[in-house]
Amino acid sequence: MKISSISLFAFDLPLREVQSLSRGRRFDRFGATVIRIDTDEGVSGWGEVTPWGSSYLAAFPGGVRQAVCDMAPALLGEDPRFPEAVYRVMDRELAGHVYAKALVDFAVWDIAGKWTGLPIHALLGGAQNAAPHLSAALHLDAPEAMLAARDRYRTAGVGTFSVKMGQGIQLDSEVIEQFQTTKLPHETNVFDANGGWSRAEAVTIMQRAHAADFMVEQPCSTYESTLSVRRKTSQPISLDECMTDVQVLVRAIEEHACEAVNIKLARVGGYTKARQIRDLLLAYDLQMYVMCMGGTALSDTISANFARTVPLDRLVGAWASQEYVTLDICPGQGARPENGFLVSPDLAGLGVAPDTTAMGPPFAVFE
Ligand code: MG
Repeated sequence: MKISSISLFAFDLPLREVQSLSRGRRFDRFGATVIRIDTDEGVSGWGEVTPWGSSYLAAFPGGVRQAVCDMAPALLGEDPRFPEAVYRVMDRELAGHVYAKALVDFAVWDIAGKWTGLPIHALLGGAQNAAPHLSAALHLDAPEAMLAARDRYRTAGVGTFSVKMGQGIQLDSEVIEQFQTTKLPHETNVFDANGGWSRAEAVTIMQRAHAADFMVEQPCSTYESTLSVRRKTSQPISLDECMTDVQVLVRAIEEHACEAVNIKLARVGGYTKARQIRDLLLAYDLQMYVMCMGGTALSDTISANFARTVPLDRLVGAWASQEYVTLDICPGQGARPENGFLVSPDLAGLGVAPDTTAMGPPFAVFE
C-alpha cells in the first residue's frame, strides 16, 4: 500500500464563547487543519490538529499547515500501514514541529486501523475502559460564574473539573476554597494555572490552601519553576504544557516532579509518541489526562481512542473540545459527550468520514 495523495483542509473554527486563560490570554476562534491521506488501494485516513490559538502552546495553525506542506512530497509513496516508518521519513525531512507531524500520524494510524479492520484503540494495545470519563475545563471568570459553570457540567454527569487559575493570589485562593468546600465526595478538582503563576504566587496559594486533596496543574511556565514550587508544597502536581516528549518525562520521573501528566496528543507528536509517554506513566504508577489541544469532534475521536487504552484508575479524565466550537464536520459520527463520558463507536480506524463541504476547498493537495 502506498500513499497516493495528501489533502489539507484549513478553516476557521469559531468558539461558542470567548475563553480566558492566565496571563491575559483570550481566544474567540481556532484555526483548524484536517488532513486526508489517500492510498493506491482506496483506503483513506483522516486527522485533525487544531491548536488552542497560537499563545497556549508552542504550536500554531500556520505552523501545522506549512510543516505538512514541506513534508508531504516526501511522504507520497510511503506505506501508511507502518506509522513508525512514516515518522522516520518526517523526522528526516523536518526537525521538531511534532505537533504538525501528529496530523500525518493520526491519518496513518486511521489507515492502519481500516486496513486491519480494527479500531485504533485495539492497535494501541487494546481497550482498558468502555468509555473514558470527561473532565470539564472551567475558564477564568468571577468565582460565582465558575461555580455556575461547574454546576452545569455536574448536571450533565461530569465529576472531574479543571479549574483555571490566574486571577491573582486573592481571587485564585477564593476560587480554590469555594470549589473545595462545595465538592461532592466522588468529584475531583484540578486547579490549572496554565503556567501563569510566578513561583511566589504558586507557593503562597498552594501553602495557604487548607485541603491537600486536590491536584495542581502546570503552576509555572517552565519545568524548572514547577519543580521548585513542587519542593515547597504538598499537593500532587500534574504537568501539562511543559511535557513535550519522553525525555522530559524521564527527567520528571527521576526528579519526582509530578504525579500526573496531561497528554495532549498533538503536542507530544501524535499516537506514535504518546504511547511511549503512556507506557512510562503506567510503569511508574503515574496518572494521566488524555485530550486534544482543541478542535472538532474529529479531534475528540482521536483522543477518545487513546483514552480508551488507559486503565480507569490511571485516567484523571478525557476532555471534549467539540463543546466549545460552533462547527461539526462529522455530524452523527465519532466520539460524543454522553452523561459525563466520551462515547465512541467501535469502528475500523477512527470510524469517521468528515464532510469536506463543511471545511471549504482544500488548502493544498499533493499527488
Ligand atoms: Mg492544563
